[in-house]
Amino acid sequence: MRALVLEGAGEEAEPVLADVPAPALSSPGDVRVAMRAAALNRLDMFVAGGLPGIPPAYPHIVGADGAGVVESVGADVTSVKPGDEVVFNPGTFCGECPACARGDEALCDRIAILGEHRSGTAAELVVLPARNVGAAPAGWSWAERAALTVATMTAWRMLSSRARVQPGETVLVWGAGGGVAQAAIQVAVHLGATVIATSSRAAGLERARQLGASHVVNHNADDVVAFVRGIVGRRGCDVVVDSVGEATWPTSLRLLARGGRMVVCGATSGPMVGLDARRLFWHQWSILGSTMGSQAEFREMLALAHSGKFRPVVDKVVPLAEGAKAYARLARGEQVGKLVIEVTS
Ligand SMILES: [Zn+2]
Repeated sequence: MRALVLEGAGEEAEPVLADVPAPALSSPGDVRVAMRAAALNRLDMFVAGGLPGIPPAYPHIVGADGAGVVESVGADVTSVKPGDEVVFNPGTFCGECPACARGDEALCDRIAILGEHRSGTAAELVVLPARNVGAAPAGWSWAERAALTVATMTAWRMLSSRARVQPGETVLVWGAGGGVAQAAIQVAVHLGATVIATSSRAAGLERARQLGASHVVNHNADDVVAFVRGIVGRRGCDVVVDSVGEATWPTSLRLLARGGRMVVCGATSGPMVGLDARRLFWHQWSILGSTMGSQAEFREMLALAHSGKFRPVVDKVVPLAEGAKAYARLARGEQVGKLVIEVTS
């Protein structure tokens, strides 16, 4: 089958089109999906750059996000059947460890993410456990379906389960060109919050408004602290969504209200951040890390997508053979929304 693979990791690594063996069903609970589209996430860049011990072997099929049509199912599978159109929770889990037993599969001891710890979605066929698939929203393009899960499930867990956003609160979201930030705007609006969004580009600001942000500010051209204080006063924001890291943390903390929660799912500008412990306890802040989602969060997010509450923004669709172009665009930070790789048209 055709797949987009890495043949090694490092700064120069880029995925190439290859012919690789098709995967077989490996357990009675598995399904095999004929892929239509895969979508890129920051995670895919980390895998290409080389995470310790990841991926397990080369050539490695890339891609965590994807959507397709169920092609065959294992003997024990009753939840889906061949012909069903599906999206994935890319985090496969053991189902037996303490985290899985309490229903928080995002913290599974043996979590294995498609495209990271196991073969990814940028391939004609993908095998994964049936419990990790859900019905694709009707009336959406395959690109939108592929672009949904990682960003929206991540944002759903961040804001609903971790930061516990309440109606009437103010949420600051950095970098509205990115998929998680765009999903975070939609989730925060759904939860009844007022959203302030930043971007360095006019297209990102415009999109943030369309997604429901009440206020938008250019974080390169304008003074974000003055702008936000003009809206919320000196009290600051109840919740800050920061996936930027070094470049934004000092401002995020300046703008965080007493009792505020900062929720973090990335560090695109650099990982080393500072924190004055006196301010942390005096202001009674919560600094919350978050990544991926539990099965319950996947199902909740998907139900809200089906009902039209959440819909991802697709930046660009490239054919499988040109996957490297999508990586390059993501690396340059030019996207407004999700980059999608069309597997079969
Ligand atoms: Zn587990």
